[in-house]
Amino acid sequence: MVEKIIREGSWICPNCQTKNRGAKETCDACGAVRGNVQFLYEEDGQVVTDAAERAKATAGPDWICAFCGNSNAFDRPTCQSCSAARSEGTLRQVKEATVKGGEGLARRQVSPHATVAPDVRIEPVKVPLPLWFKAGCVIAVLGLLALVGLQSLSFEDTMTVVGKEWRRAIQVMQYQTCREGAWRGELPAGAREIRRQEKIRSYRDVLIGYQTVEETYTERQQVGTRKVKKGVRDLGNGRFEEIWDDEPIYRDVQKTRTVQKPQYRKEPVYDTWIEFDIDRWKDIEKAVAQGTTDEPRWPETGAAAHPRDIVGEKREGAREETYKVTFKSDKDGKTYVVDKLGHQPLSYEAFRRLQPGDHHKVIISGLGLVKDIPGLQPSSR
Ligand SMILES: [Zn+2]
Ligand SMILES: [Zn+2]
Repeated sequence: MVEKIIREGSWICPNCQTKNRGAKETCDACGAVRGNVQFLYEEDGQVVTDAAERAKATAGPDWICAFCGNSNAFDRPTCQSCSAARSEGTLRQVKEATVKGGEGLARRQVSPHATVAPDVRIEPVKVPLPLWFKAGCVIAVLGLLALVGLQSLSFEDTMTVVGKEWRRAIQVMQYQTCREGAWRGELPAGAREIRRQEKIRSYRDVLIGYQTVEETYTERQQVGTRKVKKGVRDLGNGRFEEIWDDEPIYRDVQKTRTVQKPQYRKEPVYDTWIEFDIDRWKDIEKAVAQGTTDEPRWPETGAAAHPRDIVGEKREGAREETYKVTFKSDKDGKTYVVDKLGHQPLSYEAFRRLQPGDHHKVIISGLGLVKDIPGLQPSSR
């Protein structure tokens, strides 16, 4: 059992604002009686060691005389100043306050009498970002903003159509016999087996025994305790009792132990691989037609009008078409190759309406991309 730590507090005279020692019952400066003041805890206040003083401190809170306001020790039956009875007076309260930082009281304190040195807490090191990196980020963001801003700007220009270019393509497919392979049980419908063989499909681990190995591990151990100040008790007589508590101190300890580590061997797992023939539609080529002055048309593919699933038969697959129109600015002679308006590909209908030699009002962005040709129908796209 550790002896209680009792410290003398202080109080501020309500009459002249002088700070007085806690045990003083009248003001050092003006002589006013202490009255019902608030006692202040002093972290570095005088520790009360004298046996008689300690007895006074722990006897009980003072009481305040109802008639003259004088402070009287707990065990006095009558007022020291005016002899009024204790029963008429007001007993001060014994109050507890926790020490948590903030509260006006001290921060948590660790006793110098800790049985083991307190743990050293290691804060992760923050590496500051280099200046060039920060500057680079700022420039990149500004650049992006500038691009977005330029693209959103619109300028109007009058331009002449000086060239046209179109391209149309059709994927051609043919029904063919294909040689393929699959694991047994996974063959597609219509497969005609050609040959089969046993092949390694995967490997599995087979336990062959155990090996004794030493391994290290970390264990948290309590290596001692330390005293931590949890709060203070206002004894109501100008003295404070500190409330201390034991807190465990832990440390990570490296230990070794012997473990049985399983040993495995890889063993192949065989399965049946089947080669088969199957008839499928396969992409064989892309038929392309393109031109500049002529009317756009789809290429010849030689596909059957009503293709059947017969080996050698051809059919048409996906189609794609692209249209480009070259404009020349009437103002500065700069040329613009347009294959989209805004984000939409240039349509066949727009391509047809744009005839060489025609003049059009064209909206271009700050980045020099054609955004719209308002004269084309439908006007907004
Ligand atoms: Zn005073
Ligand atoms: Zn009195």
